Amino acid sequence: MARRPQTCHYSCSSTPASSSRLEIEIEATVAVPDSVPTSLSLPSPTETTDVLIIGAGLSGLMAAETILQSGHSCIVLEGRDRVGGKTWSCPLPSGTGVVDLGAAWINDTNQSMMYELAKRAGAELIEQNTTGNCLLQREDGALTAFPYGQTPCITPQIQKEIELIRDTAELDCQSLSTSRPQNAELDSLSFLAYLHSRNASPIAVANASVWTRAMLGQEPQDISALYFLNYCKSGGGLLQMRSDRKHGAQYLRVRQGTQIFAKTLAESLPTDTIRFGQRVVGITQVQKGVNYVKTESGLVIKAQKVICSVPTPVLKTIKFEPQLPAAKQLLVDSFRYGYYTKVMLSFRTAWWADRGFCGLAQSFVGPASIYRDTSVPEDGKWVLTAFLAGDAGRKWSGLGSQRERELALLEQLGAIYGDKDLPKREFVEALGHEWSTEELSGWGCPCPALPPGVLTLAGDALREPFRDVHFVGTETAEEWKGYMEGAVRSGKRGAVEAVKGLTRSQL
Ligand SMILES: Cc1cc2nc3c(=O)[nH]c(=O)nc-3n(C[C@H](O)[C@H](O)[C@H](O)COP(=O)(O)OP(=O)(O)OC[C@H]3O[C@@H](n4cnc5c(N)ncnc54)[C@H](O)[C@@H]3O)c2cc1C
Repeated sequence: MARRPQTCHYSCSSTPASSSRLEIEIEATVAVPDSVPTSLSLPSPTETTDVLIIGAGLSGLMAAETILQSGHSCIVLEGRDRVGGKTWSCPLPSGTGVVDLGAAWINDTNQSMMYELAKRAGAELIEQNTTGNCLLQREDGALTAFPYGQTPCITPQIQKEIELIRDTAELDCQSLSTSRPQNAELDSLSFLAYLHSRNASPIAVANASVWTRAMLGQEPQDISALYFLNYCKSGGGLLQMRSDRKHGAQYLRVRQGTQIFAKTLAESLPTDTIRFGQRVVGITQVQKGVNYVKTESGLVIKAQKVICSVPTPVLKTIKFEPQLPAAKQLLVDSFRYGYYTKVMLSFRTAWWADRGFCGLAQSFVGPASIYRDTSVPEDGKWVLTAFLAGDAGRKWSGLGSQRERELALLEQLGAIYGDKDLPKREFVEALGHEWSTEELSGWGCPCPALPPGVLTLAGDALREPFRDVHFVGTETAEEWKGYMEGAVRSGKRGAVEAVKGLTRSQL
């Protein structure tokens, strides 16, 4: 008998822990270099450290490890009661293994830092299943089966149109600089306008819209063509990023769940390095090497350097004194998430594989844009992960109850696989998480994106330190922006930058 479906948020709550409030305020006159001395009311610090890191996601934890290895002290302030940020692994209620509510895939070649971390963590890696046919569901509900690695052949002409625009986007993305993309023409266009400018046919546009939805949760009209193409370049190109095979972004999953990476990094830090339930609300740069970081609960830490690893949209909730430079502020105001939710649907059997399908299905109509097989045979876990993204995903999230949402997905699967009752019959439970409700993720995932124009105006400010404050986090990465690999690489980069400005550098 099927178990009762579980709600999306059932057991993995993440609430800030309370901590005592410290309210001693002293008057001080501060001289901010390059600006008029200001009179600020500075709280007295509860502790002092060389480097204060905000956030215990993968970028913040990698930064902490690197700082400590250099012989300097550091404290990490984390707003949640857990490490990992957008990596979060939860057990299925039925006891058949864990599912990743956030990041799930890595690879073992061009994601070298994540692969090293996987080996260090003792992660058991599972190759993504690409054996068998994939399915495409078109706007009118028509279905096309096609072998993994090929494009769907609705007609030879349509197949050519889809491949032409895919190859054009691949060429255009490869022509861009990874670190400082500059192309004012591409940045003046939305990705949709770009597709039209390259004479994409309606079906090629529909197909390319699945890329922006599946990779960023964005509709193609909402993001800059330059931003999207550079995003693809950062992961080695559109084809590599879309691939579930060797070298691809969706090649390997982790049996224990990807939160094991953050837990492994956290375990390597001295006890009490990470302070949980400490949401940072203010950063005051008093003078070179003297910075005060304040949390909502009243903790105040004095540090020579600050590394900020929070998602860029979260910076809106932190008060900077002095204020952020105009270009950085423009990025903070402009970076936004699309809609993106993963729902793991667990079944009694891998009924799709029994019928010759690999579990990868793509839909122009929704509610889910993509399904992927995320089973772990060793755990008796048979799961299809639904990617709810963009406008169709947002509409689905508006359905009244958890049960209605599950049914909408089971019905879509029934339509895709041509048996309306089979997925419902085999269904056990569903688990997912609405990242768009989480302030500490910046109200979304997996990575924020920019609308047209902003990258050209303010792109240089992305990784630029603001005096003693350094910015890390996956969207600041040069390579694998938006992915775990980008997060850890950015954390390392930020730590090296910060240590350079400290005395006694040992890096
Ligand atoms: C549904 C989903 C699917 C994904 N799929 C993949 C995938 O398959 N492969 C892949 O590589 N990547 C994937 N990603 C992206 C990946 O999870 C991220 O790129 C990466 O984890 C980001 O790490 P980060 O350190 O930059 O940011 P975060 O993980 O967001 O960490 C930031 C930390 O800062 C904390 N914080 C925020 N504000 C404050 C504050 N004011 N004070 C104190 N602390 C604060 C947060 O609680 C958090 O712990 C996915 C993400 C999601 C959500």
